[in-house]
Amino acid sequence: MERNSSKKSAGTKAGALLCPVCCVEYVEVEFDFEVDGIVLHNVRALKCPSCQEERFTPEQTTAIEKRVSDATRQ
Ligand SMILES: [Zn+2]
Repeated sequence: MERNSSKKSAGTKAGALLCPVCCVEYVEVEFDFEVDGIVLHNVRALKCPSCQEERFTPEQTTAIEKRVSDATRQ
């Protein structure tokens, strides 16, 4: 029995998300993303290679919100 609940091992697919429609792993992509009139470059997101559906992880969403917040605070 291994206790790995609190250990994050890099290089595994533990964090991989599957497209619920296609049951294939999302791949990470970068693109320019505009929100509230602010263009963010090199925004990371996950994209299903099959149906092209895009989604953000909670971490990516947080990163975007932070960048928007920083951009609007100047
Ligand atoms: Zn899909």
